[in-house]
Amino acid sequence: MTNDPAVLRGTWSFPTTIWFGAGKISMLARACKTLGITKPLFVTDPGLAGLEMVTAALAAAEADGLQTTLFSDIKPNPVSANISAGMAALRAADCDGVIAFGGGSSLDVGKTIALAAAQSEDGISLWEFEEGRKDWQRAEPPLPIVAIPTTAGTGSETGRSTVVLNEATHHKVILTHPGMMPGIVIADPELTLGLPAHITAATGMDALAHCLEAYCSPFDNPLCDGVALEGMRLVHENLTIAVDDGSNLAARSNMLAAAAMGSTAFQKGLGAIHAMSHPIGALYDSHHGLTNAVVMPYVLKRNRAAIETGLARVSNYLGLARHGEDAAAGFDAFLNWTLELRAQFDMPHTLAELGVEPNRFDELAEMAAADPTALANPVALDAAGFRQLFETAYAGDLS
Ligand code: NAD
Repeated sequence: MTNDPAVLRGTWSFPTTIWFGAGKISMLARACKTLGITKPLFVTDPGLAGLEMVTAALAAAEADGLQTTLFSDIKPNPVSANISAGMAALRAADCDGVIAFGGGSSLDVGKTIALAAAQSEDGISLWEFEEGRKDWQRAEPPLPIVAIPTTAGTGSETGRSTVVLNEATHHKVILTHPGMMPGIVIADPELTLGLPAHITAATGMDALAHCLEAYCSPFDNPLCDGVALEGMRLVHENLTIAVDDGSNLAARSNMLAAAAMGSTAFQKGLGAIHAMSHPIGALYDSHHGLTNAVVMPYVLKRNRAAIETGLARVSNYLGLARHGEDAAAGFDAFLNWTLELRAQFDMPHTLAELGVEPNRFDELAEMAAADPTALANPVALDAAGFRQLFETAYAGDLS
């Protein structure tokens, strides 16, 4: 194991091809050509579109013979109108693939445009790809996708799903198609060096939430357990450093790896953190990673009976608890670590501080119980169970 950024690089093929390491963005044109893309739609967000790293990537791609069209009309917590606009841009420019460049919002929009644009006008609609439905089996495969993350959190670059707000129903919908797994990921930690500390912290907590919920999910997938455990170690050893010193390339590299590991692991399932976070994000437009961080300790407490032994094992691996301590002490050590991280990063302790209103608890609880991620929570929760969780997270009650 090393912290030398010169060594933190390689070509990985699990769960897809990942060209990992500082400077790998220079391989963008090669990635497109490898996937047969000659006229890519370059999807990013409006904030990133004005940054040097985007203009440089576009210029390099053009110089390498790619006919690139920029599309950046997207919002954080992207909405279906962003997909329609992107599809129109793709068709107008006759693009044959997508470069999805940015945080989870840009990656999700890029991946979803690639999926939607491949369907015929009278073919399958976007919402038929909702997680859990099997309608995608009659769909056309998405256009090829190169994904380039610039935050280290969502792991959308190594996932088959996207999250899009349905403006008609105000639900954040998880859309899934195996072909939305990008053909090539360029994971270049240098692209994350300019990420402000508060976004580094919030996205890092998202990576932790993914690894944590995947590890605690009751479904059997030991491959995912191993990935999730190691992902949590990387977060433990690197997130605080990346927040305190954004220029630390080794910490940035390790966080980028942890993010990709989180989404790889959550093939095993997520849980109540995400089931609560999706409706809160849909109704309040809150940042996904930050929302996960706020509800995390309350969900851990609620799930304690089912996860105490497992989390004690994690605490031992992370060095949070001493070997030989009992499971209760190991669980407490993990819970306290999540509370310390939130305090260190000046994150809200309660849903009240996040602006969530009690008069919407019933609506939020219904939405949480219906969210597909609720199915993998280690303790079965119905709407009444979620309502209690919203109440405790609102009041900051960890007793
Ligand atoms: P984001 O993509 O919304 O970006 C947050 C902000 O950071 C934006 O203003 C963006 O311009 C800025 N930013 C991004 N990279 C930057 C950089 N390198 N330097 C400076 N600024 C930069 O945030 P996110 O947390 O990465 O993504 C959140 C979205 O991802 C939500 O919509 C969420 O639902 C979705 N999500 C998807 C999955 C999945 O599996 N597909 C998983 C979790 C979350």
